[in-house]
Amino acid sequence: MKKRIMNNINVHLVGAGPGDIELLTIKAYKLIQNADIIIYDRLANKDILKETKENCKFIDVGKIDGKHLVPQDEINEIIYQSSLNYNSVVRLKGGDPFVFGRGGEEAIYLKDRDILFSIVPGVTSAISVPAYAGIPVTQRGVVNSFRVITGHKAKGGLVNLDWDSCKTDETLIFLMGLSNLNQIVENLLKIGKQENYPVAVISKGTTKEQKVIVGTLKNIVELSKKLPTPALIIVGEVVNLREKLNWFI
Ligand code: SAH
Repeated sequence: MKKRIMNNINVHLVGAGPGDIELLTIKAYKLIQNADIIIYDRLANKDILKETKENCKFIDVGKIDGKHLVPQDEINEIIYQSSLNYNSVVRLKGGDPFVFGRGGEEAIYLKDRDILFSIVPGVTSAISVPAYAGIPVTQRGVVNSFRVITGHKAKGGLVNLDWDSCKTDETLIFLMGLSNLNQIVENLLKIGKQENYPVAVISKGTTKEQKVIVGTLKNIVELSKKLPTPALIIVGEVVNLREKLNWFI
């Protein structure tokens, strides 16, 4: 296997995948095992942190549904300072670092300070969580595109979305949207989606605690009350395929 040399890179922005530890990439796994310090967000599966060296340090800068325990500026600085003080720094993020993960901002902060970094893509929850619920995000003859949308904005409330652009039949996947589910549903109804349009909410996907609620725009808010986060919302005809494709747990 030919490999790009990363000897002089000591900071890695690493995707942890959606929860199932076996969905870690081999590259992520090796970096975690070798890390001197891990700076991590809220992870669907904390067991990943047991795979480290004994003397590995941990910093929890966890974000919960877009709300930061540690402000992003500070996170950037922590990563930067760690890069100066440790041989191997892993910045570990749920799913993929570039899918609503602010990995780009962190990488720019390092770049501006002449720090070399690597990006290790992860299995994003946007696709893998539906897959573990038996819902393909595209399906020949049903739908041929999908969109991943943030259901939250940094300062609370709902993200500014051009709802008219959601009039298409493409599969809509909302991350960080559970607390705004009623607003999402309202807006989809407003642009003309039918009340019986299929929706699923998937909580703690790919883990042993995975819960899948299947409903329609009419009843999904009621059905998914009290579901724990992290959870994603998937809207579209593909949700019906779960009836045949449900395979997990
Ligand atoms: N970078 C991440 C997404 C960060 S935003 C990725 O690529 O997956 C965080 C949101 O991702 C959560 O609010 C939730 O909507 C979704 N999410 C992450 N892990 C999840 C899981 N195991 N089950 C359901 N949703 C999940």
